[in-house]
Amino acid sequence: MKLSLVLPCYNEEEVLNDTSSKLLSLFHDLIASSKIDENSTIYFVDDGSKDNTWQIIKKLSQKHKEISGIKLSRNFGHQNALLSALMTVEGDAIISMDADLQDDITMIEKMVDLYREGYDIVYGIKMKREADGLFKRITAKGFYKMMHMLDADVISNHADFRLLSRRAVEHLREFKEVNLFLRGLIPLVGFKSTSVTYDISERTAGESKYPLPKMLAFAWNGVSSLSITPLRFITAAGFILFISTLILTVYSAWIALFTNKAVPGWASTVLPIYFIGGVQMLSVGVIGEYIGKIYLEVKARPRFIIEETI
Ligand code: UDP
Ligand code: MG
Repeated sequence: MKLSLVLPCYNEEEVLNDTSSKLLSLFHDLIASSKIDENSTIYFVDDGSKDNTWQIIKKLSQKHKEISGIKLSRNFGHQNALLSALMTVEGDAIISMDADLQDDITMIEKMVDLYREGYDIVYGIKMKREADGLFKRITAKGFYKMMHMLDADVISNHADFRLLSRRAVEHLREFKEVNLFLRGLIPLVGFKSTSVTYDISERTAGESKYPLPKMLAFAWNGVSSLSITPLRFITAAGFILFISTLILTVYSAWIALFTNKAVPGWASTVLPIYFIGGVQMLSVGVIGEYIGKIYLEVKARPRFIIEETI
């Protein structure tokens, strides 16, 4: 079985040497125990890094026949970098993981074993996330909760550490969307799948390439790529507002006709204007988000551009 390991790297010069030596020794063990073919390869994808990442990848690939590199023409983002590798590398199975080795690499052997047992997809699931800061843990938890509330089918605590069989990858190719949220797409591919669990560790070096704004954008991309429930909220809000207004109208008619308490009020005139204005703006905003998505999908720009492979 020929295994391909793909690791997107964005400004990862500090971790690459360490990561590659750990992965190489693991590879040698797996080849020695003939779990994987000796032509198995580790692909580092340089996602338009501004530091020496590509130079290091190049050097590594000259030194070790197991290491290859893919250089994208600019920074396309983690998901697209990952996709560029999934769509181009060979191998009977492809395992994707982050370059910082926060994921437990001993799980690779387990994933391979499960592949041999006939699973097409093996998800790596984080059990303990102590190594992630408190803030990241809380926001991640909130994110998965929200995704489930919105009926978006994502696997909790699974990031992009997973094994995909050749045929799963080939079917992933048929998903043409530009707003890429891979961890939401993989469950839609189907096939027999299972998971392995592990505890994450600290980044070996360097810092997170996902600052808060990027994380929020990623989360919103996940929601709007997988769920149209926010659009339904607008409909529901509109409906409730409509009914409330009807009741209010009947009530004020009753006051005006059968009592003498009717005072032409400022609040009752002005507040609804602001209120309805707010609701409308919010609604238009959410609709706009989806129209923006449609705009991007319709253009169908390339999701990645490969400058060089070694
Ligand atoms: N990454 C990438 N392109 C980007 C941002 C990140 O290829 O624009 C890679 C990064 O090099 C790493 C992986 O995506 O291998 C995950 O990033 P990171 O570890 O910084 O995220 P965190 O674990 O903090 O969520
Ligand atoms: Mg990380």
